[in-house]
Amino acid sequence: MRPSDLLQPRPEGLYCPPGDFFIDPVRPVGRALITHGHSDHARSGHAKVLATRQTLDIMALRYGENFAGARQAAALGETIDVGGVSVTFYPAGHVLGSAQIAVEKDGLRIVASGDYKRVPDQTCAPFELVPCDVFITEATFALPVFRHPPVQEEIGRLLKSVAQFPERAHLVGAYALGKAQRVMKELRQAGYDRPIHIHGALAKLSAYYQTEGIDLGPLEPATVEAGRKGDFAGAVVIGPPSAFADRWARRFPDPVSCFASGWMRIRQRAKQRGVELPLIISDHCDWDELCETITGTGAGEVWVTHGREEALVRWCELQGISARPLHLVGYEDEGD
Ligand SMILES: [Zn+2]
Ligand SMILES: [Zn+2]
Repeated sequence: MRPSDLLQPRPEGLYCPPGDFFIDPVRPVGRALITHGHSDHARSGHAKVLATRQTLDIMALRYGENFAGARQAAALGETIDVGGVSVTFYPAGHVLGSAQIAVEKDGLRIVASGDYKRVPDQTCAPFELVPCDVFITEATFALPVFRHPPVQEEIGRLLKSVAQFPERAHLVGAYALGKAQRVMKELRQAGYDRPIHIHGALAKLSAYYQTEGIDLGPLEPATVEAGRKGDFAGAVVIGPPSAFADRWARRFPDPVSCFASGWMRIRQRAKQRGVELPLIISDHCDWDELCETITGTGAGEVWVTHGREEALVRWCELQGISARPLHLVGYEDEGD
């Protein structure tokens, strides 16, 4: 069996003809296998969905209980037969519930890694390296310029600023699924024990993380009563990036605008967004982690999905690994 007989790009997403299923389809399909709950990978409207229990829970929180016709939970490490194809979910270390999906038939194993990262993250299971013949990788930060500093360093800069400007509120923009909870957890790990104020858009998902045993400490709604701006002096307020463009952000006293994202490595981006304190915190691999992972899988062939495909394909070729971009459309960078 050739790899392209087992998995191939289609407009809907990666398709497995013998098993008749798609991985992370961007349009409604009969059977979808979902790597994680970010909205560019997990869409509603599929007839059947197979994903980890936590990803199914997250999809239900985001889209409502009727997000799919039928759902099946995949336990990590357990092999499931889907139309004669063996399918196994392994942790991807990206956000709570995130998984890589290994697809295997007639001795050929392809791993679709979804979005993934290798650095420790207290809010999800750690990435597991899965040996395979073909490794399918994202390329969000696939340029040598992308090297992410330790998250503790970035959280340290935030706490230093909070101590330095006790009269100002620190508004941290962070994606609602994964990044926001990781920032909260890292603040707790660093010893910050005051209530963290959160935008309403983060409430359900953060509560879900807490019920899954991830202690985020005291969280309070970041709602401002008229004329009580002073309540948020010295506070840490976390909200989705979109909230910072609207009136919500202007309610806080002389706010320090912060944004937690891998893109903050690019100073120009921070400037464009009016970010005063950029925090380079990424839920994706940086360049070194991507290269190290590709080598580690032992894959003789690499397929590159969304991001900087060309640079990673070139690097693979220099290592003697055959590689090609898949040109899948519809994947953005919700959880960058
Ligand atoms: Zn993605
Ligand atoms: Zn993602």
